[in-house]
Parts: sequence; structure tokens; C-alpha cells
Amino acid sequence: MRVPAISVAFSLLFVSIHAFSFPSFLGAQKPIKTSKRVAVIGGGAAGSSAAYHIQRFAQRAGLDVDITIFERNHYLGGRSTTVHAYDDPRFPIELGASIFVEQNQILVDACTEFNLSTSGAGDERPRDDRPTLGVWDGAKFVYTQYGTIWDLPRLLWRYGYAPIKTRKLVQKTVNRFLKMYEEPFFPWSSLSDVALLLGLTQATAATGIEFLEKNGVGGLFAKEIVQASTRVNYAQELNEIHGLETMVSMAPEGAMAVEGGNWQMFAHMAKTASSDVRLNVTVSAIERREKSGFGITSSPTISSLGDTVDSYGVKSATESFDTVILAAPYQFANVSILPAPESIPSEIPWVKLHVTLFTSPRLLHGRAFGIDSDAEVPTTILTTVPSDPSTHSKPAFFSISTLRAVNNTAFSPPRTEYMYKIFSHESVNPAFLAEIFDLPTPAAGHELSRDDISWMYRKVWHSYPYGLPRVTFEELKLDEGLWYTSGMESFISTMETNALMGKNIARLLIDEWTGSGQKKGEVEQKPLKEIL
Ligand SMILES: Cc1cc2nc3c(=O)[nH]c(=O)nc-3n(C[C@H](O)[C@H](O)[C@H](O)COP(=O)(O)OP(=O)(O)OC[C@H]3O[C@@H](n4cnc5c(N)ncnc54)[C@H](O)[C@@H]3O)c2cc1C
Repeated sequence: MRVPAISVAFSLLFVSIHAFSFPSFLGAQKPIKTSKRVAVIGGGAAGSSAAYHIQRFAQRAGLDVDITIFERNHYLGGRSTTVHAYDDPRFPIELGASIFVEQNQILVDACTEFNLSTSGAGDERPRDDRPTLGVWDGAKFVYTQYGTIWDLPRLLWRYGYAPIKTRKLVQKTVNRFLKMYEEPFFPWSSLSDVALLLGLTQATAATGIEFLEKNGVGGLFAKEIVQASTRVNYAQELNEIHGLETMVSMAPEGAMAVEGGNWQMFAHMAKTASSDVRLNVTVSAIERREKSGFGITSSPTISSLGDTVDSYGVKSATESFDTVILAAPYQFANVSILPAPESIPSEIPWVKLHVTLFTSPRLLHGRAFGIDSDAEVPTTILTTVPSDPSTHSKPAFFSISTLRAVNNTAFSPPRTEYMYKIFSHESVNPAFLAEIFDLPTPAAGHELSRDDISWMYRKVWHSYPYGLPRVTFEELKLDEGLWYTSGMESFISTMETNALMGKNIARLLIDEWTGSGQKKGEVEQKPLKEIL
């Protein structure tokens, strides 16, 4: 349910801050006898974090909880998952979410708590004389740099003060966002309200380009560098994606990844929270019980689509829970909710992203990118659109990254190969691969030879929503006892923000149970000026 415009304006002045007058952290208390049964549907960042934080907050509040996590995949982590190059566990590659940043408190804390090692994003990139980064517009590189951090002198030379202004704007926006972790803002009972209160809707209400121009950043820097970032991070251009996700795209300072795979953070969270983690189990229905609680119907997942059609003869079971957290985008969860909850998440357009991973002994070839055939091609190629669309078409991909060099011992003698990752809107075909390596185009229906491409893995994701400008976001409480995490997706789609949503719901839920939050109908209202 969207908040009508008039109530948004009202809440700007008198917004209800859930935690304002009640201390959220209660310290350890005597256990309350009744045990609450919680169903978490989805074992990604949001669901695992929700479960983990419910367990922690409940323990501190002396509450007994019993959490079941239903996950239709055979693994925990959701859109954070790895595959192994050559099917060899020594070579994990992120297939989905690959980086997080040092401001991501929940993820950084999880790494510390679970003793997970991180490395800087791109640390494994081959160290050679090639440029590390190039921004390609479909015909030429408009920006190239060496070294692993932004080359400030080069940026200033080409773009004037725009990089510095952008950095300040990103910092200001991130600082506002970080208040969502702290009292009196945390926990927030409405994402729309807290976003408005913190001034973040100024960024979500505008497209990336509008937001940048309004803040004095435009021109070449926006078009070439910022847009290259929104294309690689969200597969969207500056006139599509909203200003907040544009800022997030420009904030990967101190970017890192968990060695062996980011999914481990969520697997640890889930397993710490619950002894009942059910993998390969799909929930098909949430039904409100007459007296209280819900019946959850689930059955073993029988296909990669997660459907559980009766004709397959799969047995489903219905169990009772006090509270349910739907921690997956409703439009892809295939869950029926009966009766219809007070608020139903709207269907929104999502990006369909093709991720292609492969290994090859070949280096990217200059001719494919409009440079001399003996010139060195950057190890990471980001893309933007041509300044004059009539001259040439825009790139057919968002990015090509050379992840690392490996020794492929399946060949005799072993040979050096490179692991590549391509993000694109369309499937990467053999002709495209032949072009980037300057190889003869294979006949229709034929792949490149194993000598040229020794291993390949393809995945099409519903990766994130189109970040179209908006000022209201899905309710996080769909109805009494029924919570929803994925309203976060159209605000900021990242592992951390979804984990934050999980934590926020955990706090609200425990406060409700202990009576330390607001009671229904008793809405605490504070003037905006007092709160800020
Ligand atoms: C290619 C790609 C690159 C990305 N890059 C980054 C990045 O670098 N950094 C970053 O922070 N974020 C990145 N993201 C975004 C990030 O992955 C997501 O925002 C985040 O992981 C979402 O977490 P979630 O738990 O909300 O949803 P999901 O990870 O989608 O988890 C939902 C889970 O629910 C399960 N589920 C759904 N329906 C049912 C059902 N009926 N029954 C049981 N289980 C069900 C699903 O199987 C899934 O495991 C990227 C995403 C993609 C796809």
C-alpha cells in the first residue's frame, strides 16, 4: 500500500518515530515463558539477517523463539552465491552480489563475528602493464586509467571539479543513510517515512541525472564516469535510475568481498539463528489462522523455478507459526497469501541481467574496442552510451571484467588462463566472444573451441528492480504478524540494505512482543525539528 501524497507531506512535519520514546535495547531479562514460532521465507541477506537478529534481540529480551527458515534453493545466500570455475572448489567466483563496502556495518560485523576473511575487491586482478579500467562508449575508450584506485589528477584534468563535488555529495548522502541504523530513527516502522525524514527522498524522487545536475554535477563526468558506474552496478542509465542508487553506485570506496564467497555471511547468520534451516523447500501459501498465527504450506522444491505442482506427486505440509517474514520479492516468490493482507506489494519492473563467466587463455583484443590491435585493453571495461547516438550504437554489454589469472592444469603443459565476467542485457553469443578476442566468427550454431574458451557458466538473474524515481516504498508490515523485507529493493538494492531491513524488522517484532514498542493506536509523534 502506498502512502498517499498528502499523508507524506503531513508526516514530514509530524512523523512517527517508533523507537523515539522507548529504549530499544532492553538488556537481558528473565525469560518470558511462551515460545514464539517464526517462519522466515527466504535465506538470502534479508531473511538470514532477520533470523539472526530476532534470535539475538530475543535472547537479550529473555524471549524464547523458534525460527524456521524456508529456502527454495539448495543453498543459503539467495542472490549472493558463487560457482566454481572448472567445477573446482579452489576457484570460487561470485555469480551475484560481489562487493560490499566498509560502511556496511552489518556485513562487516558478520565477517568479524564469524571469522571470515575479506580481500579488497579486484585484489586478484592480474598484475601486468595493462590499464586497469577503461570506459568504452561503443566505439572508443572515453576514459582509461592505470592503478587500482581512482586516478584523481587524471579525473580532475578531464572533468574539472565534478569528481570532488560528486564525492562530497556521495558522502553527504551516505551519512544521511547511516542514520537509519541509529536511534531515534532505528527501528523505522515505515521506509517511506524514514526516507522522507532523512531527506533521502530528495534523491529517490529524481533520476540520477536530475539529482546530479541539481547538485551541480553534470556534463561529461556524469555521462562517462557516473553512468558507467550505474550501468555496471544496476544495469541502468542515469535517466532511468534514481538519485539514491546513483549515489550508491559511486560509493564503492574500500570495496571488499569475503574470501570464498559472500554467501558465507548469510549461511552463518542463518545457522546461528536457527537449527531448522530447510533447504530445497518452497513455501507456496501463507494462510491466516482464525484465532491467531498462520499456516505455512511448503513442499520440496522440484525444479529450478521453485514450483511445487501437485501433479509431480510432491507432498506438501502445512505448519503453524505465530509470525511470518517474507524475505524475498513477492512478485517472484509464488506465494499465495490468504486472506489478502492489508498491504500487497505492487509488481514493479525488474532488470533481467545476463551474467556470463568463462575462462580463456586469450587477452581482450584492441581491435574490438577501437584501439590499435597491439594496444593493451583495460582489464576492466565499463561502458557508457555515445554522446551522439547517431554516430554509433551503444555497447552491447555493461561490463567485461578480467577477474584473475589461473593456471589450468587440465592442459598439458598447464597454461595460464584468465577468468572473465560479462554483464549484459542479452545472452553473450559465440560471435561476440570471437570478436572481443579477435578470433574468426564461428559458424552459426557453433561454439568457440575449448582451446579458446575452456569453461563457461551462464546465469540470467532478476537482479534488482529498475530504480525508477519514487518517494514511497512498500510497507514492511503487510498485516498483523506478517512482515516483508523486499520493499528495500526499490530504495537501495544491496546485500547490506536488505540485511538492514531484516535487522529492522527483527527489532520491531521483538519490541512488539515485549510491549516496548508503541502499542497499536498510540502513535508517538514528534515534530521534525525536535528529532533532527
Ligand atoms: C548479478 C548481481 C550482482 C549484484 N551485485 C551486488 C553487489 O556487488 N553488492 C551488493 O551489495 N549487492 C549486489 N547485488 C544485489 C544483492 O544481491 C541483493 O540486493 C541482495 O542479495 C538481496 O537479498 P535478499 O535476501 O533481499 O533477496 P534474495 O537474495 O533474492 O533472497 C531471497 C531468497 O528467498 C528464496 N525464496 C523466494 N521465494 C521463496 C519461496 N516461495 N519459498 C522459499 N524460498 C523462497 C530465494 O530462493 C532466495 O534465496 C547484486 C545482484 C545481482 C543479481
